[in-house]
Amino acid sequence: MGRDDPLDTYLVHHPEAIFQRPVESTVLDPDNPYVLAPHLCAAAAELPLTDDDLTLFGPEAGALLPQLERRGLLRRRAGGYFWTRRERAADLTDIRGAGGKAVQIVESATGRLLGTVDDASAHASVHDGAVHLHQGRTYLVERLDLDDAVALVGEADPDYSTIARENTSVSVLSTDLEESWGAARVHFGSVEVTHQVVSFLRRRLITGEVLGETKLDLPPRSLRTRAVWWTVTEDQLEAARIHPEELPGALHAAEHASIGLLPLFATCDRWDIGGVSIPLHADTGLPTVFVYDGHPGGAGFAERAFHTARGWLTATREAIASCECAFGCPSCVQSPKCGNGNEPLDKRAAVRLLDCLLARETVPESDAERIAAGRVAPEPTPTDPEAGPAPTEG
Ligand SMILES: [Zn+2]
Ligand SMILES: [Zn+2]
Repeated sequence: MGRDDPLDTYLVHHPEAIFQRPVESTVLDPDNPYVLAPHLCAAAAELPLTDDDLTLFGPEAGALLPQLERRGLLRRRAGGYFWTRRERAADLTDIRGAGGKAVQIVESATGRLLGTVDDASAHASVHDGAVHLHQGRTYLVERLDLDDAVALVGEADPDYSTIARENTSVSVLSTDLEESWGAARVHFGSVEVTHQVVSFLRRRLITGEVLGETKLDLPPRSLRTRAVWWTVTEDQLEAARIHPEELPGALHAAEHASIGLLPLFATCDRWDIGGVSIPLHADTGLPTVFVYDGHPGGAGFAERAFHTARGWLTATREAIASCECAFGCPSCVQSPKCGNGNEPLDKRAAVRLLDCLLARETVPESDAERIAAGRVAPEPTPTDPEAGPAPTEG
């Protein structure tokens, strides 16, 4: 059954994407130290790691072992590298090197531990005043104490839910791969993503009406990871008739839909990846959309996105254009994890933007072949912004 998200909307319109494809490859970057280090530790905890074993773990393993030794996790002896800790390697949370302690959710009246949330999502989910659901009961967070990693909560019955708003910025650390699509460019490289939860909205249950916004005072958090990003030029925007006031909504809508579609191209979940769109980015000097791996060091999703960028962004354009809603909905451009309350979003300008991103002077061989084989229409029909609301069925 199709759900209300861009991936399912695309699949309902393009069932061949499931039924006529080879089995998907799983994406994992085995050289990512954040992925590899816990595996090396877990392996060493079972049997000491010998030099012969290292070939099984790829070319980066040899360089990582001395680091793990310096951090006191492994010790080198004649028989190989040994696990030094009493705990099970799989249970050690600081094995990843990043990330702090999980935040405990404690009922203040009874001192009962209700559960934990990981450090990375605590700011957005258990901030002061957040509505927290636990086993069918509703709690309000009285106080989030970051020093002690505890959120104190009390049972309550509010007639609203809460949603955190956050500011996210991205800076480019290095560009490793780059491709020109006419005047547009697609890049892959390392970035630093900074998130700060700045406020939360209270929304009335059922109607979703916004009741108010409350400011929060939480520190920014940063993540070094890998990203794919694309830029278009001023001339392209002009040719696509995207006015400056439409641009933020066009970029943001394209970003959301592309995140929703990426699981089709890189075996991931939309919750594994994040995005930022900005009309003028300091590092590129251009309107830019970033899609980044949510895991420190990257997990291979952004890299896969770069290598399948044309198919991925073409599918994104089609998912938006073929959605039957008039102004954007959760099936196309709205995102359940948007830090900006799904504003602004401009569905039609997003289609024009993606058309100008995907247009290029020469039709590449692979596309020409697909057209010749009759598997795709030769030229997508651009959405006419003057044509009134998109047609709906039923
Ligand atoms: Zn829609
Ligand atoms: Zn958003």
